[in-house]
Amino acid sequence: MSPLLELRGLTAHYGDFQALFGVDLALEEGRTLAVIGANGAGKTTLMRAITGIARVSGGSAALAGARIDRMAAPDILRAGIAMVPEGRRLFPSLSVEENLRIGAHARRGNGFWTLARIYELFPVLRDRRLQPATALSGGQQQMVAIGRALMSNPRVLLCDELSLGLAPVVIREIYAAFPTIRDSGAAIVVVEQDISQALKVADAVHCMMEGRITLSGPPASLSREAIHDAYFGVR
Ligand code: ATP
Repeated sequence: MSPLLELRGLTAHYGDFQALFGVDLALEEGRTLAVIGANGAGKTTLMRAITGIARVSGGSAALAGARIDRMAAPDILRAGIAMVPEGRRLFPSLSVEENLRIGAHARRGNGFWTLARIYELFPVLRDRRLQPATALSGGQQQMVAIGRALMSNPRVLLCDELSLGLAPVVIREIYAAFPTIRDSGAAIVVVEQDISQALKVADAVHCMMEGRITLSGPPASLSREAIHDAYFGVR
């Protein structure tokens, strides 16, 4: 059987600049994959290529065996791949609940996630549901961004730099939602610059440098030295 998400030799360009070089990746249902790497390694480009926002220039991407790499971004979302973008990108003039409802526009069937379930996952959002999204703290806004992505009932949830700019206690609170998200049947990809956070949540880690995956494996199999070399280049 095909993996839920499978990339083979994926490449992406910005004009003449090549940002991804032959990325291979396989992700099964209910699993969490972490992609780590320094600034500019290509992590965001990888997320954008999977979701159809960045154009794929070569190789293939498939969801449950069906090619998605030539599909338009809205169709990829409807097929079941949702992204929590870096910087959250909420609609500032809309309330928390209106932001969440926007995620339901591309909803896949009668899935697990409803407003009520999002509020069970992040109870603080129920209390603040009528407030403008920008009135919330950074961590609460991140919860809205996750909730909005879940409202489409994704099979794969891509999270770009969830912990950026948040206090450790808030990061823990956000990652505490992950088991419930996995139990809903979704697979998760987290992009993180925070390596220790990535190692804690992931079943498998891919380290990227200069558009290539330089190291992969389950967290327990990767030594600190190997990660350092793959992240920064060999000393
Ligand atoms: P960060 O942690 O800073 O987001 P990243 O690992 O996500 O880094 P990308 O943002 O994917 O890296 O960038 C990969 C490479 O592509 C970098 O060299 C970057 O300068 C380049 N790049 C990214 N976006 C564009 C763009 N819109 N146009 C041209 N080059 C870009």
